[in-house]
Amino acid sequence: MPNDMDKKSVIIIGGGAAGFFCAANLDKTKFQVKILEQNSDVLQKVKISGGGRCNVTHACFDPKELVNFYPRGNKELLSVFHRFQPGDTMDWFEQKGVDLKIEDDNRIFPESNSSQTIIDTLVNVVHDKGFEVLTKSVVLAIERTGNQYTVTTTSDRYSADYIVFATGSSPKSLKLVQNLGHRIVESVPSLFTFNIKNEFLTDLPGTSFPNAEISIPKLKVEESGPMLITHWGLSGPAVLKISAWKARELAELKYQTEAVVNFLGLDLDDASETFYQFKKDNPKKSIGNSKIFEITTRFWHRILWLSKVDLEKSVSNISAKELEAVVKNLCANVMKVSGKSTYKDEFVTAGGVELKEINFRNMSSRILPDFYIAGEVLNIDAVTGGFNFQACWSEAWLIAEDLNGKL
Ligand SMILES: Cc1cc2nc3c(=O)[nH]c(=O)nc-3n(C[C@H](O)[C@H](O)[C@H](O)COP(=O)(O)OP(=O)(O)OC[C@H]3O[C@@H](n4cnc5c(N)ncnc54)[C@H](O)[C@@H]3O)c2cc1C
Repeated sequence: MPNDMDKKSVIIIGGGAAGFFCAANLDKTKFQVKILEQNSDVLQKVKISGGGRCNVTHACFDPKELVNFYPRGNKELLSVFHRFQPGDTMDWFEQKGVDLKIEDDNRIFPESNSSQTIIDTLVNVVHDKGFEVLTKSVVLAIERTGNQYTVTTTSDRYSADYIVFATGSSPKSLKLVQNLGHRIVESVPSLFTFNIKNEFLTDLPGTSFPNAEISIPKLKVEESGPMLITHWGLSGPAVLKISAWKARELAELKYQTEAVVNFLGLDLDDASETFYQFKKDNPKKSIGNSKIFEITTRFWHRILWLSKVDLEKSVSNISAKELEAVVKNLCANVMKVSGKSTYKDEFVTAGGVELKEINFRNMSSRILPDFYIAGEVLNIDAVTGGFNFQACWSEAWLIAEDLNGKL
């Protein structure tokens, strides 16, 4: 076993998910490792992730299927996931004594329902290896001097044989790699909810639709899935997916556009047919008391108000025009999106280090020798569901594998 003098030095910049997972997989017999973290605590995003429960990964074990959840990075991550995918993440944490559970929607959480379990595990593994974690160490500059790097922080200078750059999406820190020659794709928010100022939606927050669809005709995009009315507009997986896939285009539109919402996920003809059938079978019922579709009575009354249909009217007296208006408001409701709000459970940015400059066999820089880049600092991001962490775990594992194989 080499003594400390013979060990190569690795500096990991950023004590987040990617930085810690890389350290946790490095061979302590070969490397001296320092994690430099600017804050007084490490893994702060893991702490708040998944509403404090940490959605560690997603039960999708086929790399080809998995990459479909990444609006940016889908091509590049295929080979990465062939080497380390959610099944490997589960094995890794379970081997460290963390019980995980798969929820109905395939999101994976620690059985404890606490992100602290994940933090403690990562911190303990890194600590047991004898690696140093230096908090309140803001990296200000990185220089190549001979065969090594010199890293300057607010309090010290360090030299290292290898750098792992994992600073997340902070624009200030992106400048550090930009100064070393990497190109940066401009950052824009991803995973946000739509602000919609519409009288029709007031007083309905919390109303949900399990199989909704939403499209933005101008951007030729359509998504389906659960949807939720919030105080400010619309949220839920269907909206978040659109926000991620069209993050850049929506930023260009300054988040002002028209969306067409189908609350039922039924096409217009099918919804009309259901309505006509109900009319035939229940002519005497008042329309306000009729349960034609799987929606709340409150929402149904709002649809009738929007369609200018009197709640007391009997079903048999509903005209073809009124029926058409109701169905259109349910299945093709045109709404003006006037801004965005942060999705509180998980928000990420699109943008970061240009992917063409990364070798995805081992996450090394194609521009800088002995320099690796992982995590949200790259122009990679995913829809909600545990995929953003999975990219961090997989990329960080690849780096550790590459370094461990070097000596
Ligand atoms: C509220 C919220 C909830 C989320 N929930 C989930 C979830 O449940 N599942 C999921 O998959 N994803 C979730 N995400 C996304 C996920 O947290 C990120 O994708 C992930 O944390 C990125 O990890 P990272 O290591 O690349 O960056 P980070 O976690 O941001 O870590 C980077 C670290 O580098 C440090 N740093 C930056 N610059 C410097 C510098 N110059 N010097 C020293 N240190 C520096 C930062 O302080 C930070 O600690 C959530 C995000 C948010 C904001």
